[in-house]
Amino acid sequence: MAGIRIDSVTKSYGGLTVLKAFSLDIADGEFVVLVGPSGCGKSTMLKILAGLEEATSGTIAIGERDVTDLAPGDRDIAMVFQNYALYPHLTVRKNMGFGLKMRGTDAGEIDRRVNEAAKILGIDHLLERRPRALSGGQRQRVALGRAIVREPLAFLMDEPLSNLDAKLRVHTRAEISALHKRLRVTTIYVTHDQTEAMTMADRIVIMKDGVIQQIAAPEVMFREPANLFVAGFIGSPG
Ligand code: ADP
Ligand code: MG
Repeated sequence: MAGIRIDSVTKSYGGLTVLKAFSLDIADGEFVVLVGPSGCGKSTMLKILAGLEEATSGTIAIGERDVTDLAPGDRDIAMVFQNYALYPHLTVRKNMGFGLKMRGTDAGEIDRRVNEAAKILGIDHLLERRPRALSGGQRQRVALGRAIVREPLAFLMDEPLSNLDAKLRVHTRAEISALHKRLRVTTIYVTHDQTEAMTMADRIVIMKDGVIQQIAAPEVMFREPANLFVAGFIGSPG
């Protein structure tokens, strides 16, 4: 595990600047929720962390290592998306182990990690099924399992619950929080849902138009919002 340091990251697409001097220090084991309206730059920030997009300027360190110029596969972080993107022709077991196999991990070790993750997530009875035989919630758990087996330094989650219905969303939200308490892997969780932010975060980072408005623990943000935008978004009384 490791902390993450984002230092003055800016991202422009042509003339459009979507992240403006974004800086954030995340402690080892912390669960940070990045929240803000659609289009404010949340996914772009995660993609830059994952190495799927390049920052226009600024640096990123994971633990002691500057990863700004490293390829996605060399960063030791795992990303969970809203569209789970499981391989339809592979069983759950093979979907979960795929990344490790590509990395050359030996079969016994893959089996050990997949079995352990499946047990944690309560999907051990589904390991020989194919994705089409799973519910949305079960698929999302497989996607989480695929991230867990890699034993990454950090998890990046981009609106992982947005394809689930309201009831399942509440349930899976609690599961992700429980999983975090158990594994204590540094996590950056992106959502546009203030309830998710308020219930899951150690700290909330709230953004508007590519600019951080406030970084604070949920109760502090609720009690002392930095500005009217934060107050409105979080639903503070004042
Ligand atoms: P969020 O995840 O907060 O909804 P995004 O990070 O996806 O927001 O997008 C932030 C802004 O960047 C939006 O205005 C979006 O249209 C723009 N954007 C994202 N990706 C690209 C791209 N590849 N090319 C041009 N503009 C982009
Ligand atoms: Mg997004």
